[in-house]
Amino acid sequence: MAQIVKRAYMYRFYPTPGQADYPTFKSRKKSRASAEYTRSAFRWRDGTLTLAKMSEPLRIVWSRPLPEGAEPSTVTVSRDSAGRWFVSILVEEMIRPLDPTDNRMGVDAGITALVTLSTGEKVTNPRHERADRRKLAKAQRALARKAKGSANRAKARLKVARVYARIADRRRDFLHKLSTRLVRENQTVVIEDLTVRTMVRNHTLARAISDASWRELRSALEYKAAWYGRELVVVDRWFPSSKLCSACGALQDTMPLNVRTWECACGASHDRDVNAAKNILAAGLAER
Ligand SMILES: [Zn+2]
Repeated sequence: MAQIVKRAYMYRFYPTPGQADYPTFKSRKKSRASAEYTRSAFRWRDGTLTLAKMSEPLRIVWSRPLPEGAEPSTVTVSRDSAGRWFVSILVEEMIRPLDPTDNRMGVDAGITALVTLSTGEKVTNPRHERADRRKLAKAQRALARKAKGSANRAKARLKVARVYARIADRRRDFLHKLSTRLVRENQTVVIEDLTVRTMVRNHTLARAISDASWRELRSALEYKAAWYGRELVVVDRWFPSSKLCSACGALQDTMPLNVRTWECACGASHDRDVNAAKNILAAGLAER
C-alpha cells in the first residue's frame, strides 16, 4: 500500500550579495549551524523559495527536482564549517512499495572493505576517499603548526573543513546509492548491531569515518526498508559471526583480526568477511 512520508531534500544555495538578512547562528563551535522556518516564515511560489524579510528568492542549485506538486512544510537553512550554505526542504511524498522479491542479503561491516555481502561481493569505500583522507591528514598537520589566534590558523582551519566536507559529501552520496540498491534488490537485509563495537574502538580518523559510514548506512537502510515494504533484521551484537564456519557451523576458538582467509576442519575455505556476512544472513533469517 502506498504511504505518505515526510522527506527532506537538501540543496546548496548561494547568498545574494547585499542581502543582509541571512540567519545569524549563535553557536560558532557547532560544525553545522542551522535555522528553521515554518510555513508562515517562507514563501513558496512557482518553484522559488523566499525567506521572510527577504526581497529575493534563494539562489538554489536544484541538483535534483522536488517531487511534482510538492508543498514544503518546513525549510531549514544551514551553513557548514566549510562556509557553504544549504537549504533543506521538507515535503510530504507518496511512496509506493516495491514488488516483492525472494532475494535476501547479509551485510558485514568491514575493515578492508566498507561492507562485504553474503553473495561474496565486497563494496569498497568511495573512489577518491583514500586520496582525500591523505589530504585531510596533511591539512590537519598544517593547522597544528599555525599559531593560535593567527589569521593563518583561521585559513588552515577552513582548509581542513573543506576537505572534510568533500569526504562527507562523497560518502553520503555513495551510502545513499548503496542503501537504495540493497533495499531494491532484496526482500530481507540482515546487518549486525555494532553499537558496542563502535564504542570500544580507539578513534583514529579512518575509524571514525568508517563508524560514521556504518551508522549512516544503517539508518538509511532502516527508513528505506520501511518505505519500500522491505525487511531489515538487526542481529545481536554478541553473535560470533567471524568465528563460525558458515558451511558446517563449527565455532573456532579465536579469529585474530589479521586472519583474512582460513580453512575449517570440515574442508571449507573461507574469506573472513564473506563467511561473516553469510553467518549474519543465516542468524537474521533464524531470528525472524
Ligand atoms: Zn566447517
